[in-house]
Amino acid sequence: MIKKKVVVVGGGPAGHNAAASAARYGAQVVLIERDVIGGLAHLRDCVPSKSMIATGGALSFAHRLDGMGLAQVETEINVEQLRNRIQSIENRLEGSVTELLMSLEVQIIRGTARLSSPNSVSVKTEEDEIKIDADVIVLATGSRPRIPEWAIIDSERILSTRDAYPPKEIPEHLIVVGSGVTGVEFVHMFSSLGSAVTLIVSRQQVLPNKDPEAAALLEQTFMDRGVQLLKGARAIGVKRIGKKVEVYCSDGRVATGSHALIAIGSQPNTESLGLDNANVLLNSNGHVEVDHNLKSSVPSIYVAGDLSGKLPLSSVAAMQGRKIAEHIMGLHDGRPHRHLAYDKAASAIFTEPEIADVGLVEAEAFATGRKIRVTKVPFSSNAKALINDDPKGFVKIVSDPNTGHVLGGSIVGRHAAELISVVALAVTANLTVQDVHETLFVYPSLSEALSEAAE
Ligand SMILES: Cc1cc2nc3c(=O)[nH]c(=O)nc-3n(C[C@H](O)[C@H](O)[C@H](O)COP(=O)(O)OP(=O)(O)OC[C@H]3O[C@@H](n4cnc5c(N)ncnc54)[C@H](O)[C@@H]3O)c2cc1C
Repeated sequence: MIKKKVVVVGGGPAGHNAAASAARYGAQVVLIERDVIGGLAHLRDCVPSKSMIATGGALSFAHRLDGMGLAQVETEINVEQLRNRIQSIENRLEGSVTELLMSLEVQIIRGTARLSSPNSVSVKTEEDEIKIDADVIVLATGSRPRIPEWAIIDSERILSTRDAYPPKEIPEHLIVVGSGVTGVEFVHMFSSLGSAVTLIVSRQQVLPNKDPEAAALLEQTFMDRGVQLLKGARAIGVKRIGKKVEVYCSDGRVATGSHALIAIGSQPNTESLGLDNANVLLNSNGHVEVDHNLKSSVPSIYVAGDLSGKLPLSSVAAMQGRKIAEHIMGLHDGRPHRHLAYDKAASAIFTEPEIADVGLVEAEAFATGRKIRVTKVPFSSNAKALINDDPKGFVKIVSDPNTGHVLGGSIVGRHAAELISVVALAVTANLTVQDVHETLFVYPSLSEALSEAAE
C-alpha cells in the first residue's frame, strides 16, 4: 500500500505532535524545522519562563523558611547556574522530542521551508535548496513577540519577551510594558528574583479578561512585594539613556528603570511562507484562515498552533496537531469527529499565587446574563494549605443551577495550575457538582477544597 505523504513545517508542539501522530497512524512524514526541535516559542519562551519562575519560587520559599519552623538562612541567585539549568532543560526536552520522532521514522530536515504550490514545499538547508512533494502539508510555524513601532529592541536593556532568557543578568529595575498573562508572569518572575519592578497597566486592572477577584488578589500581592503599578498608563515610547531606560506614557508619566521589557502579545509567522504560491488565505487578524478541522482555504494544507490564531497555548497547539493527524488519516470516517472545544481549555498564570481557570468564569456569565450558581471556598480553611504555610487564594466552581453541571471554575493559590485539571475534566466530561463533591479526595490535600466548593 502506498503511504500518504505528510510534510510538516515547524517542529513546535503543534508540528511535532502532528508529525508523530500522523506517523503513528501510518503516514510517511517529513518534518522541517529551521531552529529548535520542540519549538521556538515553546522551548525559548514557555519552558524557560516557567523554569525561571520555579527558581524565583524556590528563592521566595527560602526567604520565608521561618514560617515552616526552620531557622532562616540566606541564599542568593547564581546567574550562571540559572542559565545552565535552563539550557539543560531545553536540551533534554529537545532530545526527547527528537528521539520520539526518530523512533517513529519521521524524517527531520533542518532548514527553512516555504510553500511552492498546494502540494509542495521548497526547503533551504545549509547546503542547498530542495523541493519536497506531499499529499498533505501541515503549517505550524508559530509566532514571535509583537513589537510596537515605538519600541526599538536592543536585546540588552530594551527587551522583547524572548530576550529575557537565558538571563544575562538580573535587572536592577525592570519596567514591564503589558499587564496580560505574559506581562504579569514577568513581573512575578523578576520581582521574586530580586529586581525592583514597575508595571505599566493600560487599564485600571491587571489581567483585564480574568476573574476580577483573582486579578485584585494578584495586584495586592504585587504591591506587598513593592511592585509599582502605573495604572491607566499607555506606553508610547521607550529610550535608552546610558545604563537607564525611560518608558514614556501618553498622559506624560515617565517610568525610569535599568531595563524595559515589552510584553504586549505575539504575531503569527506568516511571512516568507510562500502562502501566495498556494493561494492560502489569511483572516482579518493576520492568521491563516482555517475551518473547524484546521484546514486552510486550500484542501491539502492544514494549520496548527499559534499560526491558526486560536488559543496561543502549547497544550492547544499539541492537541491541534494530533487532531489534524486524525483528520488527515481519516480516523473519523464513519463516526462523529470530536472537534476541539477551545472554550473548555484550561489555562494558568504562573504567578504567586497561581491563577487558573477553565470554561465559563463568573464575570463572563454575568456579562451575558446567563443564570449560574457560583460556590467559593477559601484555602484559609483548608488543612493542607495551612500545613504548606500558604493559605492564600480560593476555589470557585461555576455550575448550572438547574442541572448541577459544572460549567467552569477559577482557582487562585498554590498549585492552581494542577488543581484546575479536576474542573477541566468535569467540564469536558459533562460532570455535575455532585460527581465532584462525592469524589473521595486525599486528606489532607488542596483538592478537598474542590469537593467542598462543589457541595
Ligand atoms: C513568554 C511566553 C510564555 C508562555 N507560556 C506558556 C505556558 O505557560 N503554557 C502554554 O501552554 N503556553 C505558553 N506560551 C505559548 C506557547 O509557547 C505557544 O502557544 C506554543 O509554543 C505554540 O506552539 P507552535 O508549535 O505553534 O509554535 P512554536 O513553539 O513557536 O514552534 C514553531 C516552530 O516553527 C519553526 N519555523 C517557523 N517558520 C519556519 C519555516 N519557514 N521553516 C521551518 N521551520 C519554521 C520555528 O523555528 C519554531 O520552532 C507562552 C508563550 C510565551 C511567549
